[in-house]
Amino acid sequence: MEVIAVANQKGGVGKTTTSVNLSASLSVTQQRVLLVDLDPQGNATMGSGINKNALDETLYDLIIRDSDFSTVIRSAKEAGYDLLPSNGDLVSAEAQLLDFERREYRLDAILKSVEGSYDYVVIDCPPSLNMLTINALVAADKVIIPMQCEYYALEGLSALMQTIDIIKAHLNPELEIEGVVRTMYDPRNRLTIEVNNELFNHLGKKVYRTVIPRNVRLAEAPSFGLPVIQYDRHSKGAIAYLALAGELLRRADEAKVLKCS
Ligand code: ATP
Ligand code: MG
Repeated sequence: MEVIAVANQKGGVGKTTTSVNLSASLSVTQQRVLLVDLDPQGNATMGSGINKNALDETLYDLIIRDSDFSTVIRSAKEAGYDLLPSNGDLVSAEAQLLDFERREYRLDAILKSVEGSYDYVVIDCPPSLNMLTINALVAADKVIIPMQCEYYALEGLSALMQTIDIIKAHLNPELEIEGVVRTMYDPRNRLTIEVNNELFNHLGKKVYRTVIPRNVRLAEAPSFGLPVIQYDRHSKGAIAYLALAGELLRRADEAKVLKCS
């Protein structure tokens, strides 16, 4: 089981869109996927076709009240994966977590308890570097960073890198950056080229070749509670996220071959 945190403390960069559509794309390739909605906004929950306002128990109950995994987990049937849903309840988890010993490891423990059941766990992080995001980075093997090629994007990136380094040093030495994915990509924007160059200079191979274009289908799909592949599988957005899943799986295969040789 590989745990991937989708994180960037900057808001609106495509974390949830990437989490939902990467999960759906991995499911299409027969991977067993669990999507964890770690954001009180509950956007990944709604975007997976689960009504966040009609839930008895959510990820909050799992993290804070030691509820049973089986009572919280939902099957996002059309999307093809399992979901740990969230809603506004999760807001108070942030403060309540402080009362726990090993408060950074709550999500890690939950995911370890279902180790054999999934090939991939994708965690949709909130737009901040708070205790919930720390829980994600401690539970994760890898981080995917979605970013828009804008001027301030790189500034935000260095704060995130520093956080990742701190987590690596103190809480999760195995944590690695899986890759940076360029979202809402517009090659006609003159800034794009400049930011692209800087990105490759700083991160080299960590930048995914696949780019996610700006595509209206990606923005529409969540209001139907569907990942874009189910909403319009011929759209540029659907093809891009399938390509991203393909690139991720190829990288994982290459890493395995390297380990064996
Ligand atoms: P937050 O920080 O609030 O959690 P986020 O990083 O999860 O935001 P999203 O919710 O995925 O970002 O995206 C922000 C908005 O941009 C949404 O309305 C989404 O539908 C839209 N969007 C994301 N990616 C694309 C894209 N490639 N093309 C068009 N619209 C997109
Ligand atoms: Mg989001």
